[in-house]
Amino acid sequence: MPAISFEFFPPKTEEQRVQLDAAVSRLKKSEPDYVSVTFGAGGSTLSYTDKTVKQLRQEHGLSVAPHLSCMGGTRAEIGELLDTYKASGCRRIVALRGDLPSGMATPGDFRYAAELVGFIREHSGDHFHIEVAAYPETHPQAENALADLRHFRDKVDAGADGAITQYFFNADAYFRFVEDVTRLGVSIPIVPGIMPIANFSQLRRFSEQCGAEIPRWIVKRMQAHGDDAAAVRELAADVVAELCRRLIDGGAPGLHFYTINRARATTAVLDRL
Ligand code: FAD
Repeated sequence: MPAISFEFFPPKTEEQRVQLDAAVSRLKKSEPDYVSVTFGAGGSTLSYTDKTVKQLRQEHGLSVAPHLSCMGGTRAEIGELLDTYKASGCRRIVALRGDLPSGMATPGDFRYAAELVGFIREHSGDHFHIEVAAYPETHPQAENALADLRHFRDKVDAGADGAITQYFFNADAYFRFVEDVTRLGVSIPIVPGIMPIANFSQLRRFSEQCGAEIPRWIVKRMQAHGDDAAAVRELAADVVAELCRRLIDGGAPGLHFYTINRARATTAVLDRL
């Protein structure tokens, strides 16, 4: 079994905090290499990310990687955040561009994640292990698929140590992406992002926005089970576990699970592995 990591989002209410705590308590039994905490573009969940990072470190003893998105942020603000994370003992950061929230006019001091990676190296030297995002099915705003591969390489050239992919359900897209960027001279580990399926209709809506394709056969099988929640859960776990197995057998260096702060769907996949 390769190294695994879990992604959480920062809770905003007491109910969400309790839910996160329960999920982390269950998932940490799988001994993740590290866990990561997402960041809202434009600083909207800034304080929550910071607070959640501290909680997961102190209360659960986990190695935590904050996500840091540069959209809407200034060099001074991001430099300050890097110092805070360094002081609190973080050694890994997931560096992203983020998306501009509607209504926000200024993109800030950075246009692309590669510029953020360069700034982190300039500001904090080699203190942080920097992860960046990768898109085996192409980022939805890319000029085209080949330009997207070259822009991915820009992040590596700027100093990224590793990458985590957007989730996908087609293993060939991942293998092809790794092959293509290897041909461009990239040699950092590219860890597949895995989305355990907890709520299928929600996942379908979300996948439209972020450009992740759900194969027709999965949609059809899910639909065939209708309201039979237990059958849907079984199929979901089987499908995702099978994907993980193919990825591991094909040489994926790790698995990063998008937990959505719930343990059940992720645990069901891990149990099958
Ligand atoms: P970039 O690498 O900057 O790429 C963005 C787009 O710009 C791509 O289409 C790329 O091809 C293009 N591009 C890059 N450089 C250039 C250039 N020089 N000229 C022209 N075009 C260029 N979002 C959050 O807000 N918070 C999070 O915590 C978060 N976590 C994530 C974790 C993972 C593992 C992943 C895969 C995504 C995450 N996201 C998060 C979403 C991410 O912020 C969005 O997908 C965003 O739209 C792109 O971010 P990026 O870092 O990939 O950007």
